[in-house]
Amino acid sequence: MAPTQTPGEPPWLADYAAMAAASRGRRYDEAPPSYRSEFQRDRDRIIHASAFRRLEYKTQVFVNHEGDLFRTRLTHSLEVSQVARTIARQMGLNEELTEAIALAHDLGHTPFGHAGQDALNRCLAEYGGFEHNLQSLRVVDHLEARYAEFDGLNLTFETREGVLKRCSRRHAQQLGELGTRFLEGGHPSLEAQLTNIADEIAYNSHDVDDGLRAGFIDIDELQEVELIRELFERVAASHPGLSQRRTIYQVVRHLIGEQVGDLIEASQARIAAHQPRHIDHVRTADAALMGFSETMASRHRELKQFLLRHLYRHYRVHRMNRKSQRIINDLFGALFEDLQLLPPPQQHYAESRAEAGGDRGRARAVADYIAGMTDRYAIAEHERLFDPQTLT
Ligand code: MG
Repeated sequence: MAPTQTPGEPPWLADYAAMAAASRGRRYDEAPPSYRSEFQRDRDRIIHASAFRRLEYKTQVFVNHEGDLFRTRLTHSLEVSQVARTIARQMGLNEELTEAIALAHDLGHTPFGHAGQDALNRCLAEYGGFEHNLQSLRVVDHLEARYAEFDGLNLTFETREGVLKRCSRRHAQQLGELGTRFLEGGHPSLEAQLTNIADEIAYNSHDVDDGLRAGFIDIDELQEVELIRELFERVAASHPGLSQRRTIYQVVRHLIGEQVGDLIEASQARIAAHQPRHIDHVRTADAALMGFSETMASRHRELKQFLLRHLYRHYRVHRMNRKSQRIINDLFGALFEDLQLLPPPQQHYAESRAEAGGDRGRARAVADYIAGMTDRYAIAEHERLFDPQTLT
């Protein structure tokens, strides 16, 4: 027999955790789920979304065709989820909400990573710009078209709040309750705060691994970074003669562990000092309660700076980025100029947007189409539109 009530919260939740039973709700009212909490239902809807499947073929740093072992947006999202759930569980926070936010946080990413996003943002300069966090929200609020009763996934306020990591004031003004914290100050739930930091922990750590694998980062140079040097020394001391590949894995493993441990301890100290008794106290606290200690924050910044100089600005990453930007520019230019180049469903959508919103609506519809592409689809679509030898 199916249970007749929404399952309760896990018993270990802290008073200031996000509670599914106290959710601010969904945009469209729905009957409560029979077997799952509201946040589990969010997580499940995200996993079944087509935007989620497309993450498999979207760039994190390395374009999908550059190698099978590099992280993609999908494996990145799974790693964020793993890190975030560990932190949530240990801190008495809502693991189910955390997982939903982690799996959805990059749904709005364009093909070709940040290079693709920057290019699309420039294409839309006159039409409201492009922000990938806002696009993730658009995906879950509007663009996924799979339910009979509504557009989007109709997720809870708490998951949507977590997905919208950043937002410009201009766009926040159009978002009602969800935009308030960007206009008036304040913080999202601890689950959202921790997932945001878990995102950074995951990509800093896996970019070290991927950068070494690609040969773009030099193992000796990497040891300029204090945090990493210590970890190499620790691994060498406890496992002398270990192969280089396993040493790197050990270092990356400890790199995640060190940051997670510091984040939990430093955040628990802040919580103890602030004594929140309810999620609203988290939202109105004078500072974000989740965060690294000062020592780890500065070590973390040093690592980010290193990755920026040595990996993200590596000339071969830069070359691929410039190719990606040209592809996005070309696609946007051609499709914006002539909507009839779009496949029928997108054409219909773009025409109705153009009719209602003029050039802004037209540009947004083309951007939605491009942002939804995987790397390989964008490359193929570019060939179909621009290479006379390729069949359309
Ligand atoms: Mg991410």
